[in-house]
Amino acid sequence: MTRRILIASHNAKKARELETVFKEGDESIFVVPVYDVDASYPEPEESGSTFLENARIKARAAFEYFHEAVIADDSGLEVASLSGEPGVHSARYSKDHDDEANNKKLLRRLEGYQKASERAAQFVSVIVYIDQAGKEYVAQGICQGTIAFEPAGSGGFGYDPLFIPDEIPSKTFAEVSEAEKNAISHRGRALADLKRQLAHGKRED
Ligand code: IMP
Repeated sequence: MTRRILIASHNAKKARELETVFKEGDESIFVVPVYDVDASYPEPEESGSTFLENARIKARAAFEYFHEAVIADDSGLEVASLSGEPGVHSARYSKDHDDEANNKKLLRRLEGYQKASERAAQFVSVIVYIDQAGKEYVAQGICQGTIAFEPAGSGGFGYDPLFIPDEIPSKTFAEVSEAEKNAISHRGRALADLKRQLAHGKRED
């Protein structure tokens, strides 16, 4: 029997990462983005002030609309020397709200920061999964690295061209394969955490 799980995201690249990792090793899972089920599904406003609040808003809105198992991720980049910027505002950091403008703004904000320690950053992903019965699970993943001096690579999305993960210090996330990114990324780790919880039937209240 197959199980259908909806991905509460309009970001196609993020949805693909969630789908690839979540399905891995389980052919019975059928993962589908909400916009493929109903193109008119209205995405809720992300009014929370934490990744968890926003992930929960997205997961609950989709569960209440579709009454099916849903998975939502809220994620972003935190740069310690910028007091955690862009953080929960990662998608909307620049006026234009697009990846290229966001990356340019981040590079501008880090002008004058030369040392690797001043360019230290981490990606954070908080996942909220609500099963068919309405039971909620929360999982988190972090990936540490540094911000490059200029963009490199064309893979991935968002800040990937600027993010050099500690585990692969010669490349940005936009220069590694999807499998390499999924193995160490914040989202890959959050999904691994979620899968562990589901395997053990653990509940987060
Ligand atoms: P969200 O869809 O509201 O969670 O926004 C997440 C934002 O954080 C994205 O638009 C990107 O700017 C950034 N982000 C999150 N995860 C990644 C990633 O894996 N690579 C690059 N940027 C990311």
